[in-house]
Amino acid sequence: MRTAVIGFPRIGKDRELKFATEKYFKNELSEEELVKTAKEIRCYGWEKQKEAGIDFISSNDFSYYDNMLDTAVLFNIIPKRYKDLELSEMGTYYAMARGYQGEKGNVKAFAMKKWFNTNYHYLVPEIEDDADIRLAGNKPIREFIEARDYGALTKVSIIGPFTFLSLARFVGEKTAKDFANVLSKEYVKLILELEKEGAKWIQFDEPYLVRDLSSDEIDLFKEIYNYILSNKGNVKVLLQTYFGDVRDIYKELIGLNFDGIGLDFLEGRKTLDLIKENGFAEDKLLFAGLVKGKNIWRNDYKKTVEIIDELKKYVAEENIVLNTSCSLLHVPYTLDSETKLGDEYKKHFSYAEEKLTELKELSLIIKGEEREELLEKNQELFKGRVNSKNQQVIDRVNAIKEEDYVRLPEFNEREKIQKERFNLPLFPTTTIGSFPQTADVRKNRNDFRKGLITKEEYIAFNQKKIKECIDLQEEIGLDVLVHGEFERNDMVEYFGEHLDGYVFTEKAWVQSYGTRCVKPPVIWGDVSRKEAITVQWSKYAASCTKKEVKGMLTGPVTILNWSFPREDISIKESILQLALAIRDEVLDLEANGINIIQIDEAALREKLPIRRSDWNKEYLDFAIPAFRLVHAKVKPETQIHTHMCYSEFTDIIPAIDAMDADVITFEASRSDLLILDSLKENHFKTEVGPGVYDIHSPRVPSVEEIVNALSKMREKIEDKKLWVNPDCGLKTRGDKETKASLINMVQAAKILRGKA
Ligand code: GLN
Ligand code: ZN
Repeated sequence: MRTAVIGFPRIGKDRELKFATEKYFKNELSEEELVKTAKEIRCYGWEKQKEAGIDFISSNDFSYYDNMLDTAVLFNIIPKRYKDLELSEMGTYYAMARGYQGEKGNVKAFAMKKWFNTNYHYLVPEIEDDADIRLAGNKPIREFIEARDYGALTKVSIIGPFTFLSLARFVGEKTAKDFANVLSKEYVKLILELEKEGAKWIQFDEPYLVRDLSSDEIDLFKEIYNYILSNKGNVKVLLQTYFGDVRDIYKELIGLNFDGIGLDFLEGRKTLDLIKENGFAEDKLLFAGLVKGKNIWRNDYKKTVEIIDELKKYVAEENIVLNTSCSLLHVPYTLDSETKLGDEYKKHFSYAEEKLTELKELSLIIKGEEREELLEKNQELFKGRVNSKNQQVIDRVNAIKEEDYVRLPEFNEREKIQKERFNLPLFPTTTIGSFPQTADVRKNRNDFRKGLITKEEYIAFNQKKIKECIDLQEEIGLDVLVHGEFERNDMVEYFGEHLDGYVFTEKAWVQSYGTRCVKPPVIWGDVSRKEAITVQWSKYAASCTKKEVKGMLTGPVTILNWSFPREDISIKESILQLALAIRDEVLDLEANGINIIQIDEAALREKLPIRRSDWNKEYLDFAIPAFRLVHAKVKPETQIHTHMCYSEFTDIIPAIDAMDADVITFEASRSDLLILDSLKENHFKTEVGPGVYDIHSPRVPSVEEIVNALSKMREKIEDKKLWVNPDCGLKTRGDKETKASLINMVQAAKILRGKA
């Protein structure tokens, strides 16, 4: 049985691309050197896949920043504001990715959104009415040639036109339909160019097909592909889907002239049934996504072989290609980098490179080679693991009662009590929690970790930073202060380290966006709080000022969503365990005099099922109550904040309100302010701080710009409910721009107070 990989990680085994790009941004590395690093990373991936004997290896799965952005640039979809800057090709690319502030102008970046139900974020292309769509770039061709010369005849992967148009933002009057024709033509040109270079296969990634589709959408899809498939020359086309099943369009798909169809059998709950009920097509290859691209657990060979045996009843064996369920972009590179993790854990893990081995072993098993031996060895892994159960935790979860989810008194009454208690000015100013994680901050943590400094020295340094941070905030004139989060490498890992049931990796980095990576900890067993986590830092910060200091925690849903979750118990059970652990911390903070506590749920939306029809039953119905469980038992006069980012939540406003926090801050500055309308329509009760400037970019917003943003917000949000804050934590920013931006922000709030 042949094997395939949808896409390979691209940030570099040791995050080489991240470091090179960041140096390039600081003018410490030339463009040629960056290009060279990128090439080495691509070749590394091809080498590993060649070694494993993968039959269908992708090219163009690499990106300097993001594949949606690449696709926009490839087809000359570059909004005027970037063209006007007249930068180099690379310069324009990064201006779209990160915004630009310099001699040539001052422009915002593309908006960033979550890539389906993953923790990867893509850039949202903007298509202007007069967009001159044409094949203007040659990245896929260049990378195909590079792979070919390296000895890998790749399938060229590219975001398909349907998904591209469906995720793009149309800034004028026109819509996807208006551009479908011209874009299809340009895709065909690309295919023909690739054919000239000897390409045999092109893979169109169309994950948008796993969403609920309207008939208009289905028509659009058919229009696009009827054209492409009748004009594509001799190149074979693989339609690749992932993250779910394609129930709304399956029948149409098997009737179209594709040469291969890639389906996800893991997240696609109905995929197998679709094939059983409708059959498959004799003239096509089925790329069967059976090795999970999203989690780090070993594949259960027995289960996989069972599914393949079932499939063989409907599809000829030689037409089945064993595939990953999605791109391996969402898992780290290799377990070889994990030098500290015990083998009792490691043997249960599988990163991208180990997944290549799994594909190979599975194909051997199916061929009947080494079948029993490989199967037996694999089955051993699933017979029970060390230390994963904790009866006390299980009992505590079972003892949760309905009233534990309810905070009293209800919101309006609490709002009154808190207004009186805190006596904050109108439009109170605050930040989201972290302050710049400068080199000294990271060094302090690393030195402590390596045993180079004592615990006392480590604490003393952090206290010095906290004191400086508090002084800075007082100088700037912010109203609700934070301690700055200098003790945290990451908002999830830090908590995981203080929880039982977690296992940590050394190098399990996964790209989150652009140059940013996360290292999700692994939920290994039942979770509980080992010790107080943040109390000492918050208490110290509070002792440095007369103003209120917000305690800063990460919520259970986000901790779960940014960890590698267990697959042997349900997500719901894991979330409840985490909620009880964080509740212990909330109550501890309150008992230690912290009167405002922020519980971040940055990733609340992340696990929202892709299909709307599954939202409540399969997610919100337990995720939202789990959040309430965390704070329901605090006093009425304790103010609970929450924060969400990167994601639009216009469509789950009632659920957000049902979290019953007192204040929510969120990202709004990068996307448009549509969300404000829907807050108003839904009579949103929670006080809100829609971010007034974008922290993902180094540019300093002007006072005027912030006043304008706030004025728009005031049209939709009552003055008494409006908070003023950046759109996310400041940890990725530098000291200088942070101070300048916050000064402007406070100034803007003051101007507004004068007008109110
Ligand atoms: N409190 C966190 C911070 O400021 C929140 C980060 C986030 O939302 N991603 O860094
Ligand atoms: Zn955020």
